[in-house]
Amino acid sequence: MDTVTDPTRHRILTGDRPTGRLHLGHYFGTLQNRVRLQDIGVELYVVIADYQVLTDRDVADDLTGHVEELVLDYLAAGVDPARATIFTHSAVPALNQLLLPFLSLVSVAELGRNPTVKDEIAHSRQSAVSGLMFTYPVHQAADILFCKADLVPVGQDQLPHLELTRTIARRFNDRYGAGVFPEPRALLSKAPLLLGTDGTKMSKSRGNAITLAAGADETARLIKRAKTDTERHIMYDPDGRPEVSSLLLLAALCLDRTPAQVADSIGAAGSAALKKVVTEAVNEYLAPIRARRAEYARDRAHLRTVLREGNERARAVADTTLAEVRAAMNNNY
Ligand code: ATP
Ligand code: MG
Repeated sequence: MDTVTDPTRHRILTGDRPTGRLHLGHYFGTLQNRVRLQDIGVELYVVIADYQVLTDRDVADDLTGHVEELVLDYLAAGVDPARATIFTHSAVPALNQLLLPFLSLVSVAELGRNPTVKDEIAHSRQSAVSGLMFTYPVHQAADILFCKADLVPVGQDQLPHLELTRTIARRFNDRYGAGVFPEPRALLSKAPLLLGTDGTKMSKSRGNAITLAAGADETARLIKRAKTDTERHIMYDPDGRPEVSSLLLLAALCLDRTPAQVADSIGAAGSAALKKVVTEAVNEYLAPIRARRAEYARDRAHLRTVLREGNERARAVADTTLAEVRAAMNNNY
């Protein structure tokens, strides 16, 4: 994990699609890092990527509900709206306007070979692939660059998108004047790709996730049916035994130990013993987060206030950046 020596020199942008509740992959992949860096004084922007919901489905169902649930997850995990800006990108017109010049900076071939987009097409619910599916990584560059973020805490699936954002920033600066945009870098955690109960990337949309909001019993039920293997001796071997290793990593993160230490404590007791350890560790770790979440859930009006204020702040920042972009492009009439 990267160290940040002077927090005031950095700005973080990261976010999530409002397609369901946040899960353990989010928490250990990015959310924990957001809060940790916020708490040492780095300015934090969190985008709720509501337009991005439409990449792999026709309509965004229960969008308002999902947006509110995300705000709840953020607050429960420790994102502090007094310091952090939580916003929906659809509410920030100047951010979306950056998409046009940015699209001119990338080739169709570059968009077509993005491995994350290919994986998402394979899991998509749509029979045809929309233009948004190919262009949303460029939109994501607008999310990151509108506030000139330089640090982006994300999971592994986002690395191709971050590379594209760096390319767009560099090409914009080369073409229109140096120094308008920083070249942001990805911040990976110890869990850049937590697996779900089916052994593929834990994802909101794949029915394989353990959410932060799940009850202790539901968590136990989900972990019980998680895919493992038939070998009795539990060992940390991410390449050879990915499912068992992802469970070990999850327990290790909750217990503040190494995956190998957790594996040693289980030894030849097999998958059932491993799952028991993971369940207890997760439930204990999440208990205070779940309690805070239930508390915040009692005041839905507060969630909307957080979002309204975040959207206002994001609009002001985006207007300033767009003015700079238009000046650089000689679009000032
Ligand atoms: P969906 O299935 O709707 O795409 P998702 O679970 O993939 O949902 P996103 O909103 O697409 O979640 O991703 C939000 C952030 O969480 C991204 O930075 C992503 O890299 C990170 N993330 C998502 N899933 C995992 C995971 N399993 N392990 C680590 N990081 C993850
Ligand atoms: Mg996703």
